[in-house]
Amino acid sequence: MRQVYMDYSATTPVKEEVLKEMLPYFTEIYGNPSSLYTLGLTAKSAVSKARHQVADLIGADDNEVFFTAGGTESDNWTLFGVADALKAKGNHIITTKIEHHAILHSCEFLEKHGIDVTYLDVCPDGTVDPAALEAAITDKTVLISIMFVNNEVGTIEPIAECAAIAKKHGILFHTDAVQALGNVDIDVHKLGIDFMSMSSHKIYGPKGIGAIYIRKGAKISNYIHGGAQESKRRAGTENLAGIVGFGKAAEIAKRDLAHHIESVSALRNYFIDEVKKNIPDIYVNGNMDHRHPGNANITFEYIEGESILLLLDSKGISVSTGSACSSASLTPSHVLSAMGIPVERIHGTVRFTIGDFTTRDDIDYVVTELKQIVAKLREISSVSKGKGW
Ligand SMILES: *Cc1c(COP(=O)(O)O)cnc(C)c1O
Repeated sequence: MRQVYMDYSATTPVKEEVLKEMLPYFTEIYGNPSSLYTLGLTAKSAVSKARHQVADLIGADDNEVFFTAGGTESDNWTLFGVADALKAKGNHIITTKIEHHAILHSCEFLEKHGIDVTYLDVCPDGTVDPAALEAAITDKTVLISIMFVNNEVGTIEPIAECAAIAKKHGILFHTDAVQALGNVDIDVHKLGIDFMSMSSHKIYGPKGIGAIYIRKGAKISNYIHGGAQESKRRAGTENLAGIVGFGKAAEIAKRDLAHHIESVSALRNYFIDEVKKNIPDIYVNGNMDHRHPGNANITFEYIEGESILLLLDSKGISVSTGSACSSASLTPSHVLSAMGIPVERIHGTVRFTIGDFTTRDDIDYVVTELKQIVAKLREISSVSKGKGW
């Protein structure tokens, strides 16, 4: 059966070029980068090269990039590390209601340990209001954490503006840029960001590896304790092959950024247009102008997103409802809720995310199947509820 992957915001396949770069580091250049003989030094220089490739993608200096086990660890590190380092200054953190659970659940944990957290509301299109951010600042605020791009609806947040507000008040600024990396042109120095979370597996690299950008001089305590790796900032023997793969994926992301944004967003727009043309009673959620190039978050009135997902899967098509994290539970997406979307509509929402391997042919196949599936589900729904439509 035909397979069409439309869940690139959940994870991406590893690109051939990336895999090829990684392979020697499992069986040939497997030295510990901390070892002093040649095999170790060769591994160490591969880590340095990858650090440069990642730094280059975001406009950072090499020594401002530290490898972690992924976006989740980078988010945890920032919240716990800043809360600890600045505990003498204050105990207040500002974030938003639409963050990834790596931020939200870490904040909930911190709340149990004496930290006050303000969760900002968002506009109906998922945008954070910089004025509301500024109004939430108190003399106890030590950190502001606002995601760069939302993983469910694709809205790009006004990061430069928010970072400028933080700076004006002398507060450190973090952004979870996991969805932005490789999809938005990022320059951490120009944007005035102090900490930034990144993940490899969302940019065609391997899973279980990511990084944090820490602006030179920004105050943050260590999070993973042990050996002296990562300039004594993050302990643990380096995930060598993972780091090499992430570096290569970052190099490719930088090289192809303009083309990637243009071609993926053109395909995404074609998909949305085709869905609008073929299926009545739908809504596209999120900001249409400031949007992740591959994101199409669509509400189908009167039916359940879960049913659509399962029927699409039976046709070889992979999509998600809301986010991968909420797919295990039936609680409505916290992101769509924060945007003020009514619960019935939230339940009828599907996230389609496309990427570098999606073709026009894939889109045509998905629209054809989707049209039939939605019609069938609405038919059943109208019969069972006795509705006239
Ligand atoms: C995927 C994702 C994460 C988690 O990254 P991992 O590398 O999977 O731990 C964090 N934040 C956002 C916005 C994400 O999309």
